[in-house]
Amino acid sequence: MIPELIQSQRHYFSTNETKSVTFRKEALKKLKTELVLREQDIIDALFKDFKKPHFEAVVTETEIILAEINNTIKNINSWAKPKRVRASLLNFPSSDYIYSEPYGVTLVISPWNYPYQLALAPLIAAIAAGNTVVIKPSELTPNTSAIISSIVKKVFKPEHVTVVQGGVAISTELLNQKWDYIFFTGSVNVGKIVAKAAAPNLTPVTLELGGKNPCVIDETANVKLSAKRIVWGKFLNAGQTCIAPDYILIHESIKQSFYDAVKKEITSAYSERPELSEDYARIINSRNFDRLTKMLSNETCIIGGQTNAETQYIAPTLIDEPKLDSEVMKDEIFGPILPVISYKDDSKLETIIQKYDKPLSFYVFSTNSKKAKQLIQKFSFGGGAINDTIIHFTNNRLPFGGVGASGIGSYHGESSFSTFSHKKGIVKKGNWLDLPMRYAPYKGKLKLAKSALKWLS
Ligand code: NAD
Repeated sequence: MIPELIQSQRHYFSTNETKSVTFRKEALKKLKTELVLREQDIIDALFKDFKKPHFEAVVTETEIILAEINNTIKNINSWAKPKRVRASLLNFPSSDYIYSEPYGVTLVISPWNYPYQLALAPLIAAIAAGNTVVIKPSELTPNTSAIISSIVKKVFKPEHVTVVQGGVAISTELLNQKWDYIFFTGSVNVGKIVAKAAAPNLTPVTLELGGKNPCVIDETANVKLSAKRIVWGKFLNAGQTCIAPDYILIHESIKQSFYDAVKKEITSAYSERPELSEDYARIINSRNFDRLTKMLSNETCIIGGQTNAETQYIAPTLIDEPKLDSEVMKDEIFGPILPVISYKDDSKLETIIQKYDKPLSFYVFSTNSKKAKQLIQKFSFGGGAINDTIIHFTNNRLPFGGVGASGIGSYHGESSFSTFSHKKGIVKKGNWLDLPMRYAPYKGKLKLAKSALKWLS
């Protein structure tokens, strides 16, 4: 069934219907109407899947997608238009253009943590750029995946966009096919599987992966505000956010006041008993619950530490001074556990940060702008913020993506359109002049050619 589906999309793509910008815009408008109509179903599905709080479902899923589709509809004409660029005098007389052309038949594989947003954002971009799309949403959020599937069925012909549901077996079967582009969001390990599957066909990929995101708080930081913004960014979605701060590196002089401030912030956000708060999500499944609770054993939980296997609840937790070889400092945590390590001089910062692969995000809290800028420039990472967490994700004028082990490529706003488009460089040459310099016989022309390359390119 999968090979036939791809065959039908390939055939449909070759009809050139998706190349019309008017067609793409209409498709996006139809999709938007359905997304608005089904908003409550989406919010309910997210709650059923892992108790995603209503506010978070709206702010981090449905509204983000609405903003993305509105921005795409508004700008698609200008993004899709061939862009004239300054011509090289070497080619005189000519006019030069960049054409954006769709890749063709694309595959989008998405994760469970923002299951609606991370399936829909690449879908919107792929359609805007004129591709056909097969989406494989996560099997761990079956309610949300079912809604995405029913929305897509209502809006698109299957040869244009189709949702294929399933787990690893289906995903593997999809990856075994020949695609023109693969956009994957998920873990580093599966990212490597995707890259391997793409290699035999030289299929281009975007890999939106994860990593261990450092969060540095220096001695000049505004402790209270830092605590507030870190509590928000870390415990949103119960810490199951790819760009959540993974661990804190804090100057030893302010560690205790930071703990006091975090305690207050957690109580103010989720009450004395976060388990009863309707604003706090659950861990997605028992496998992840077990993985996370293992990180708590033999550690000092300075805040939180309570768990409930039945409801897959883990309290907002801070671990004081874990060893670097402890479970919690091995890989990306991806849950509501925040290890805190203190430092006295900057050399320790560097040793710890560079022990890990390049992370997806990096945060620094400091009122010393020079120092903050230095840190941002010193380390390589996907993106980040000074004096806040997560928010760089929300500006669609900033490309979002990793580097090194945290990913390949980026998207959001116009970057999304570019990601799903091949950029074709075209020179339109005039016929009224034909300079003889480049043509053989070359004798006596080298000096002139060298000067021309130096001065005219
Ligand atoms: P995952 O890699 O386990 O799964 C992602 C997708 O890949 C799912 O659709 C799943 O069905 C499929 N998949 C799983 N195993 C596979 C295999 N062996 N072969 C082929 N396909 C397979 O990731 P997840 O648990 O859903 O999501 C969590 C991870 O995603 C974290 O590492 C997080 O940092 C990362 N993430 C990154 C971003 C980003 O934008 N960079 C966003 C969200 C999540």
